Amino acid sequence: MSEDSRKPHSGRRGLIKLAGASLFLLVTPVGRAAMARQSGVVAVRVWPAADYTRVTIELGAPLKFTYFTVKNPERLVVDLEGIEFNTVLEGLSNKIATDDPNIKLLRAGRFKPGVVRLVMELKNEVRPQVFELPPVGNYGHRLVLDVYPLEPPDPLMQLLEKNEFNNESEKPLETREVARVEPQRPGRPIVDRLVTITLDPGHGGEDPGAVGRRGSYEKDVTLAIAKRLKAKIDAEPNMRAVLTRDTDFFVPLHMRVQKARRLRSDLFVSIHADAFTRPDANGSSVFALSENGASSSAARYLAQKENSADLIGGVNLDVKDPVLARTLLDLSQTATISDSLKLGKAVLNEIGGINRLHKAGVEQAGFAVLKAPDIPSILIETAFISNPEEEKRLNDDVYQDKMAEAIIAGVRKYFSKNPPLAKSKLASLD
Ligand SMILES: [Zn+2]
Repeated sequence: MSEDSRKPHSGRRGLIKLAGASLFLLVTPVGRAAMARQSGVVAVRVWPAADYTRVTIELGAPLKFTYFTVKNPERLVVDLEGIEFNTVLEGLSNKIATDDPNIKLLRAGRFKPGVVRLVMELKNEVRPQVFELPPVGNYGHRLVLDVYPLEPPDPLMQLLEKNEFNNESEKPLETREVARVEPQRPGRPIVDRLVTITLDPGHGGEDPGAVGRRGSYEKDVTLAIAKRLKAKIDAEPNMRAVLTRDTDFFVPLHMRVQKARRLRSDLFVSIHADAFTRPDANGSSVFALSENGASSSAARYLAQKENSADLIGGVNLDVKDPVLARTLLDLSQTATISDSLKLGKAVLNEIGGINRLHKAGVEQAGFAVLKAPDIPSILIETAFISNPEEEKRLNDDVYQDKMAEAIIAGVRKYFSKNPPLAKSKLASLD
């Protein structure tokens, strides 16, 4: 999509020429009777994050929209056609938190009859993506306003900024010694060089994942467990963990893989909670990628369900996806899957000590998030959030901690049998 800030972008129509950028707003509240006739804005949700802030506008029906950016100060302007100003839009300005990394203010007003203008004041220069999503799950038509900072946060730089490294910064990353702030687990390191483990809390933001009968969201329990696991890994000599998301926002599946690859991660662990229509379904399971179809129809169904996160979370299909575009698995993927299965087995064995296992062995299916060709990757369904007893446990501090402990115990066992290769021996990444 063009980043030219002077050129207006349009939704369903062709380009519309906008002379100048006068930003006057006429705020005219309309009566309830008038509102009821409009297929207007049903809900607005804002998901702030350092990576990008998303504003989702849920609509009664699809609408025409145009947008453009204005400089000094930086603004994104979106005109919504064929709707009237209503109480949902009236409350828009309260939706932006003062600590939103990207948005300073958001307001809406009646621009001209039948056109509502949204003005987003930005904290810095952004790359906007404005796109529509068709109805899916519990959602109706959605118009998505994503604002990406021009300088995206670099996970590697974030690690450096946290003073995790000492002053040996001239040395190649692989040979640097780690100076840590956290207390370390005593004893001999299991790994003889620094290893990076990317932890991937499933879902987030627009995508709640599975929802329990007591109302808890998969996206929240996965983040809680991942944070506990990160603390444990960071306390381990020669190990560090990075989260694909550390707050409640949606990360597209291929971006999760890309984050792990940019960090040259040694392992990738995606954390989820299972769900089934029958409330008595229970137990933990561990999955790896498959080369030739799923290991069971249940595994195939689950992979399809987890892969649909992009539809619910909302991905702009105009943007090319280099990972999912790859159709053939290469030779390095075969070796990686073999390691993923070893890792999965080690983790499953440990989880078996704290919870019932849904399946005795590691299962395989085509999970999009496990497709890094060079990083052993597993997906853990920690328990069934659709099972009332397990939902309770998933929200319990003690159980979350036990789950994190079981996963790191599995990782330790894996590394003690499969020491990480020197990074120089690995093929260079793109
Ligand atoms: Zn999930």
